[in-house]
Amino acid sequence: MFENLTERLEKALSGFKDRGKLSAEDIKKGLREIRLALLEADVNYKVVKDFLQRVENRALSSEVLESLTPFQQMVKIVYDELVETLGGKASGLNLTGKPSVILLAGLQGSGKTTTAAKLAKYLKKKGHNPLLCSTDIYRPAAIDQLRILSEKIELPFVSATPQEKALEIAERALKIAKDSGRDVLIVDTAGRLHIDEALMEELKAIKDFLKPQEVLLVADAMMGQDAVNVAQTFQERVGLTGIILTKVEGDARGGAAFSIKEVTGCPIKFLGIGEKLDALEVFHPERLASRILG
Ligand code: GDP
Repeated sequence: MFENLTERLEKALSGFKDRGKLSAEDIKKGLREIRLALLEADVNYKVVKDFLQRVENRALSSEVLESLTPFQQMVKIVYDELVETLGGKASGLNLTGKPSVILLAGLQGSGKTTTAAKLAKYLKKKGHNPLLCSTDIYRPAAIDQLRILSEKIELPFVSATPQEKALEIAERALKIAKDSGRDVLIVDTAGRLHIDEALMEELKAIKDFLKPQEVLLVADAMMGQDAVNVAQTFQERVGLTGIILTKVEGDARGGAAFSIKEVTGCPIKFLGIGEKLDALEVFHPERLASRILG
């Protein structure tokens, strides 16, 4: 995960290692290296610019310039600002509803259906009793996929009948969740190959009806800045409460992970780190920043 970025940042920062006092010029040179490392990792250019501005403001303070251990100070500043860029504190799920509704949206192939099951499994382990449902009436195979995954994790699933509309399934699922005392309802929605007007309207209608506590976009980290653009569009059109980035274990660069919060204003809540149903991690900005900086 993010091996390239880790390597490049380490190299950029190593210029400060074993140095006595630093000049402003030394710092600026180091910052140029960090800038290149982030751009090569496919981080959004504006995010890179803001990040470097914050690092530079702090690094050019007398504290660092006059320090006898400038390397440690630089690492600390870069760490702090990375955490900031990644979203600051970990933001958990809002589960205050009765039941709490989690609506999942995203492009086809992003890992939405798998993530619905992963999330259900995670919540079950935490003592919740989720109910799953899929409103992807356009792809019966997707509905079937979630039904099979629900069986695997031994959780109930609301089946769709062929004549039902997506909104009707959502309405029925909410009623079943209430009547059967389920505390979380996870609703998978239709996948799209690209942003599609009609499906966006349908998603909005489901959201307006369910009034979910969480609207999570499932986005494929391997898509880099395209994933960020998709998240931005869903945020503008439907409104999101968070993002789940998938396939992160295969992403050596990290461009989506490092841009998506700053660009969209939505926090990353979970990382998908594999195909198995327990390959889901709560996202902690501090832990990721530590991992990146070694
Ligand atoms: P959907 O079309 O968005 O519902 O996507 P699926 O849930 O069907 O997932 C598409 C593919 O991505 C499947 O082969 C999943 O096993 C795979 N997948 C989902 N999440 C992850 C992940 O975090 N890591 C990896 N490597 N594969 C994933």
